[in-house]
Amino acid sequence: MSKKIIIAIDGFSSTGKSTIAKLLAQKYNYIYVDTGAMYRAVTLYAKQNNFVGLEKLDVSGLVSNLKNISLSFQLNNDLGFAEMFLNGVNVEKHIRSLEISQLVSKVSTISEVRTKLVAEQQIMGKERGIVMDGRDIGTVVFPDAELKLFMTASADKRATRRYKELIERGDKVEFKDILFNVQERDRIDSTRQDSPLMKANDAIEFDNSDMGITEQFERICTLVEKRIS
Ligand code: C5P
Repeated sequence: MSKKIIIAIDGFSSTGKSTIAKLLAQKYNYIYVDTGAMYRAVTLYAKQNNFVGLEKLDVSGLVSNLKNISLSFQLNNDLGFAEMFLNGVNVEKHIRSLEISQLVSKVSTISEVRTKLVAEQQIMGKERGIVMDGRDIGTVVFPDAELKLFMTASADKRATRRYKELIERGDKVEFKDILFNVQERDRIDSTRQDSPLMKANDAIEFDNSDMGITEQFERICTLVEKRIS
């Protein structure tokens, strides 16, 4: 029988982490956890309650309300993956908007938010057999993960991917705003005090600017096979 491992996927925004993570979870019958969705859901809550805006961040207001935020992933059988629920409401569509993307990195700098979400993520991975993507999975959440990947790609390629996704779902956005957002999030994520985005020493780096999904997936599966056999 093969061993159940933890696959940690970190990297810059829109590097295709979730696409690879979903394929891996499907192939190895692992649980997939999109930790970005958790930070996005907390941001949606903060926005709804006026704790965050483009020019505002009420840290103490949000922190004192963290106990009122309940997050859960619920499997959507039609889609084949789990969707994010905030206090019992499906927020999957809302959390992917540019509006939330413009606020999420700010909310993600708050240590109390990170402590709450990291603790929930560690519980999800207790039994191993999990693929988790985010910014601090290999460095903070599961420093003992058996396989750590770090994804990069040029800002232009990443913004193009994100722009297509948003246009396809009917959002009215401009490419220049998406490009700015991708670069700005990377800047804030990489320079924050608590758990900045960085490559773990033992992570394997993939620059997928010019690499298709199939090639990436095959290479990563070879790495997985080595670790589970
Ligand atoms: O993965 P996604 O792009 O949806 O993540 C949205 C944001 O959530 C990131 O830009 C980052 O600010 C934050 N995040 C984080 N730590 C994680 C996952 C996401 O700080 N593990």
